[in-house]
Amino acid sequence: MPDDKPIRNFSEFTKSSSLLEKTRVFARDIAIRLLSFQKSREMREGWIRFPYYHHVFDDERKGFEKHLRFFSNSGDVICIDDAIKLLESSKPINGQYFCITFDDGFKNWIENAVPILVGHSLRAAFFVPTGFIGLDVIKNRDQVLNFFPGGDRLVEFLDWKDCKAIIDAGMTIGSHSVSHKKLIQLSVEDVVDELKTSKEIIEEKTEKSCKHFCCPFGRAGIDFLPERHPQIAADIGYHSFLTGHRGPNIEGDSPFNIHRDHLLANWGEEQLRYFLFGGN
Ligand SMILES: [Zn+2]
Repeated sequence: MPDDKPIRNFSEFTKSSSLLEKTRVFARDIAIRLLSFQKSREMREGWIRFPYYHHVFDDERKGFEKHLRFFSNSGDVICIDDAIKLLESSKPINGQYFCITFDDGFKNWIENAVPILVGHSLRAAFFVPTGFIGLDVIKNRDQVLNFFPGGDRLVEFLDWKDCKAIIDAGMTIGSHSVSHKKLIQLSVEDVVDELKTSKEIIEEKTEKSCKHFCCPFGRAGIDFLPERHPQIAADIGYHSFLTGHRGPNIEGDSPFNIHRDHLLANWGEEQLRYFLFGGN
């Protein structure tokens, strides 16, 4: 049985061996793909990279600060509105840009990630699954536990006051759907409902327009339909559709097929270089 207290440290979060194994397989798969097909794109001068995280646990704070220094030393960190405008403009992208993103809506964003970003005068975009925002770890324990397969990790979610505070700190809140289901498993009507309802709820609760959608799980053809779902997002009024595929976004790439690089905040600079620049 999981503990009654929400997880605060990465070491507790990964005590499940199946998760560790999954992480290893994921890393190996990514490394092979990086080496096999990204080199030609890496060589181009201008790009926007979207690093993405899920959490900054208490024992990951220092690591996250190092990542922010790394991004600032390697290029310019820009907010998501500017990143999307740059891609929409079809102008040449002169420079190397980072747009930092977060998925899933965990409490450690407001406790750890946001204060560190503010301390470095940097902005990021945070994507929330609206059905989980404001859940209480005691009252809604089963629902909170069910967010992760296996149901053995109790991670606390933000509430709407936290989301407003994130916006007040200069950050962006975007949609990560309502229920965090794989869109590919839903009917068209349900996909429309997930994208539309989450947008409306975010706009009502935060009093800010919700312009960006980040697809749960995010793999084309496995988790979403690339020929259908980004278009639904555009029709509903979103300005972007973010995926889970790695790699840089370059001039001419669509804002409705944003590539992102999944990172763990405790990874060192060598791992960052490897995953972002293919080991160069
Ligand atoms: Zn997610």
